Amino acid sequence: MENIFIQNEQQRAIMETVSRFVDAEVKPRSAQLDAKIDPAESFSWDIVEKAHAVGIRTLTLDEKWGGLGADSLTTSMVIEELGVGDLGVSVIFAQTLKIAQIMQKALTPEQQERVLPKFVQDPRGMLAIGITEPDNASNYIIGYPTQFRTSARRTEGGWIVNGMKHFISNGNRASYYLIFVQTDKEKPLTAGSTCFLLERDRQGFSIGRVHDKMGERLANNAELVFQDCFIPDENVVGKAGGGFGVLAEFFPQSNAYAGASILGVGVALSRKAVEWAKVRVQGGRPLIEHDGIRAQLAEMKMLTDASRSYIHRACWLADHKEQGWDPSLGALPKVMASQATWKIATWCMEIHGGHGYMKEFGVEKLVRDAAAFLHSDGVNRTLCLKAANFMFK
Ligand SMILES: Cc1cc2nc3c(=O)[nH]c(=O)nc-3n(C[C@H](O)[C@H](O)[C@H](O)COP(=O)(O)OP(=O)(O)OC[C@H]3O[C@@H](n4cnc5c(N)ncnc54)[C@H](O)[C@@H]3O)c2cc1C
Repeated sequence: MENIFIQNEQQRAIMETVSRFVDAEVKPRSAQLDAKIDPAESFSWDIVEKAHAVGIRTLTLDEKWGGLGADSLTTSMVIEELGVGDLGVSVIFAQTLKIAQIMQKALTPEQQERVLPKFVQDPRGMLAIGITEPDNASNYIIGYPTQFRTSARRTEGGWIVNGMKHFISNGNRASYYLIFVQTDKEKPLTAGSTCFLLERDRQGFSIGRVHDKMGERLANNAELVFQDCFIPDENVVGKAGGGFGVLAEFFPQSNAYAGASILGVGVALSRKAVEWAKVRVQGGRPLIEHDGIRAQLAEMKMLTDASRSYIHRACWLADHKEQGWDPSLGALPKVMASQATWKIATWCMEIHGGHGYMKEFGVEKLVRDAAAFLHSDGVNRTLCLKAANFMFK
């Protein structure tokens, strides 16, 4: 465990459990699942059920729902540790833990009673969030005056939704979704879209393609299709037209969790680089005794440590906004962690020489995974622009 910020015994117990789970259930299977040709087959229900059995799946829910009430800082440590084992596994749970946390804040007491007990009891309960569409991604992150194509018209007692979302993590595996839909065609998406709670078995809702990703393969990612799908008024989250209010109010730690997932890959790559540098001998001594390599290994540590500090600060302030939450913390920690991890990936491959390019040494998978978060959860340039807009209005 690289998490040197453990502050209490509950955190320590959680992290030891997660670390044991990663060593026993994730690391031994990750390469084999990653290699499956059909992207859907890289996902493992067995891993999800085993995580459920040790309390990881419901970690962020309050104790009254059967969770552990983990705060955002602890959750980011868990997400990072899962990412050290496998990025896809980390993403599966980062999404579920994040959305569960949002649900217990943003849903009404009636909605919570309807959803959370079923989610807690189902060992396969997964959650997903659908915002991105083929024509709208950076548009909604920056807040351009455009509209979602996925739209709804009013009907008695609810809404009829048509359209599609794509690139949705857990899209084909979730039991509940939060979906962002244009409900007012006179307004831009920032003012005219609504967040809906969606149950998987709702008529008119179906799963489209499972995307064939380059890396992060143990998480599935899919299209969501809506064909005259009726969603009742009681499934509106927040208020109609207030979808972006839900995003702004309840998602402050989302970006830091994404950073924690990819930081886990950076840590795994750094460890691999050190291991190789200790055993590979060139010039009559192990690589680790060559000054250039030693300095580069220290720089890797600096990059992972600094990314972790940024993530932890964002998570702590997300839970204590009154202590000085800065909205750029909702955009930049992931940018830093993903850039650091990408840099470390290229260095780790270089330290491995030709071995880094051969699948059998395991670096190749990590390099594919390392690329995932240059764009997931917002393209880095788009997120920097979002932060700049906060900074300079
Ligand atoms: C593995 C993965 C998992 C994902 N999971 C989810 C999920 O669970 N839920 C969900 O809703 N979405 C999800 N996404 C979607 C993700 O958030 C988007 O892919 C991401 O926001 C980028 O969108 P895009 O590919 O359409 O790029 P685009 O928005 O088309 O951007 C293309 C390029 O244009 C640049 N660009 C755009 N606007 C500007 C500008 N104003 N100035 C300068 N440059 C600009 C961007 O920086 C980028 O380099 C996921 C994506 C991936 C890859």
